[in-house]
Amino acid sequence: MPDPAADLNPPARLLLGPGPSNVHPRVLQALTSPTLGYLDPDFLDVLTRIQELLRGAFRTRNPLTLALSGTGTSGMEAGLVNLLEPGEKALVCVNGYFGARLVEVALRAGAQVIRVEAPWGRVVEPEAVEAELRAHPDVKLVALVQGETSTGVLQPVKEIADLAHRHGALVLVDAVTSFGGCELPVDAWDLDYVYSCTQKCLSCPSGLSPITVSERARRAIGGRERRIGSFYLDLTLLEQYWGEAHIYHHTVPGHLLYALHEALRLLAEEGVEERWARHRRHGEALQAGLAAMGLALHAQEGHRLPVLTTVRVPEGVDDARVRRRLLQEYGIEIGGGLGELRGRVWRIGLMGYASRPENVLLVLTALEAALAAEGYRAEPGAGAAAAARALA
Ligand code: PLP
Repeated sequence: MPDPAADLNPPARLLLGPGPSNVHPRVLQALTSPTLGYLDPDFLDVLTRIQELLRGAFRTRNPLTLALSGTGTSGMEAGLVNLLEPGEKALVCVNGYFGARLVEVALRAGAQVIRVEAPWGRVVEPEAVEAELRAHPDVKLVALVQGETSTGVLQPVKEIADLAHRHGALVLVDAVTSFGGCELPVDAWDLDYVYSCTQKCLSCPSGLSPITVSERARRAIGGRERRIGSFYLDLTLLEQYWGEAHIYHHTVPGHLLYALHEALRLLAEEGVEERWARHRRHGEALQAGLAAMGLALHAQEGHRLPVLTTVRVPEGVDDARVRRRLLQEYGIEIGGGLGELRGRVWRIGLMGYASRPENVLLVLTALEAALAAEGYRAEPGAGAAAAARALA
């Protein structure tokens, strides 16, 4: 047992997995700012700025836009417990681990759940959603994951959102992995509830969940018959703290909010669309490099997430040994498979601050070496060369 009172000294890693990603140095700096009380006027000013920057990042004018104290799952749970009452129907698109989590949370909220499934690695087809909406005209909410982190699929959102509205349902979108990295104009796509996290494309520590709520969804919450089942995640109470009334609800994590403010400032400086384009450019270069190494990409062609790429573990290669070698010899973390893809894919993230050309070339080169140690021979340098061509 190491001395529990010794210095921690966590090693510096390059985090190229499914998240968390590396925290931007300016965001780390923000964490050293002085503590303020949660009702200090200077602190309330920070909250107001965060709300406005979040609206910019979400491409929305929704008044009810804030950051929940909790990771991405708190955003998921808040959406489902506020928008659904026990017995109401939710249609949930499931094509991976996080779609399945949406089902689990909706069931715990007492909802009746209709699942629309697709194989892990493929998108959920709008026709399948429409068929279920016709069969169940009383569906209140359609829930889907934009960036399915377990499979690397980028689910088209707009068409399903339009269908849901045509059938009178609200639309809830999980943007935990995609927010700040993939196109997501909330107002243009008319989305009702969108949640994310801070530890992926925002390059912040984990612990907050940015959310935005449409006026339509807000009215639905206001019109509930039963009280919201969660006190901590009750959006009507949180709105009274973040809004003009500033009524105490819980002691928000001030330093994480400073960090989020800095991360959102970085996003605004770069430009939202520019950031989407940067992630796309680097994701495509990585995918070109992996393909040039003879590796198979798992996600459906044309629907690959730029921020998180799933690549199949080649036959005869030990998944865990490759990841261990990358970590120990190169200080690079990539992810293993989740759920039914465990042991079958690697998940390579290029998120936020880590989405840089040098990281694309580095991870391809390190992976080539780690695979060679397993007896898998790619043409030397082919991956990095293909990526470099794509970057050029
Ligand atoms: N949804 C998706 C798509 C995710 O990738 C994750 C986490 O990786 C979550 C939800 C849950 O977020 P958290 O782990 O921050 O609670």
